Amino acid sequence: MFKLTNKSAIITGGGSGIGKAMAVLFAKQGAEVHIIELNSDAAAETVNEITAFGGKAFGHACDVSKQAQVVETMNKIGKIDILVNNAGIAHIGRADNTSEADFDRIYNVNIKGVYNCLFAAIPLMKANNGGVILNTASIAASVGIVDRFAYSTSKGAIHAMTLSVARDYLHEGIRCNSISPARVHTPFVDGFIAKNYAGKEAEIFEKLSKSQPIGRMGQPEEVAALALYLCSDEAGFITGTDYPIDGGFITL
Ligand code: NAD
Repeated sequence: MFKLTNKSAIITGGGSGIGKAMAVLFAKQGAEVHIIELNSDAAAETVNEITAFGGKAFGHACDVSKQAQVVETMNKIGKIDILVNNAGIAHIGRADNTSEADFDRIYNVNIKGVYNCLFAAIPLMKANNGGVILNTASIAASVGIVDRFAYSTSKGAIHAMTLSVARDYLHEGIRCNSISPARVHTPFVDGFIAKNYAGKEAEIFEKLSKSQPIGRMGQPEEVAALALYLCSDEAGFITGTDYPIDGGFITL
């Protein structure tokens, strides 16, 4: 079950956290993994971890917000069966204290970055008789997390892009879904705590963990397992859907 043998999978942001866990799991299941990363050292670390167990992986230094770089990178990869649009960045602020520069920065990575990857990958998928796209959204898109205006709204766009792509390519063999994690323990979360709550890291970590109904943060490997299922042939009847993975955050 859930084998990815002979599949070529692109994972953006695969050098850290959720994307890294996806890259490792997809490679274990037989995929040739391509990591598209701003941080080439981080990509190399994931590649080393994968090749150490005999998996196949390649790192590509690339900023998803730059279309020319993305097109060049994807064309070089050539065959794409799976695209996971996972790279994303966060920001704290409300509408009236989010600067134009910060708003543009978040939107350029979280929205335009996904568009750039779709723009570059879909023609290659069509030439390859189809493929699977998975976008990493966030529960922030559905609940409007306090003080996360740019981030939450950027993730809302992911839901709309998922539906739009799922509908447009429904009869061209391309499925498209999204996942919406609540807090998952990654460098993304650790960095956020360190930057905003210096000296109170342990206390804030505990508070954030307890703010999840299930009483803890998710683990990247738990998100990767859902991603694997949605990208596998076993999920062939699933398209145009968002999957919360949130310890009950939205429903309980
Ligand atoms: P992370 O910071 O650990 O990893 C993100 C990776 O993306 C980094 O390696 C970074 O170098 C890369 N990246 C950033 N900008 C890039 C760019 N312009 N081009 C290419 N690569 C770029 O983050 P994570 O926690 O693993 O989050 C992954 C995704 O999950 C993000 O989209 C995030 O919004 C989403 N998410 C995370 C959480 C959480 O609690 N961790 C919750 C909900 C959603």
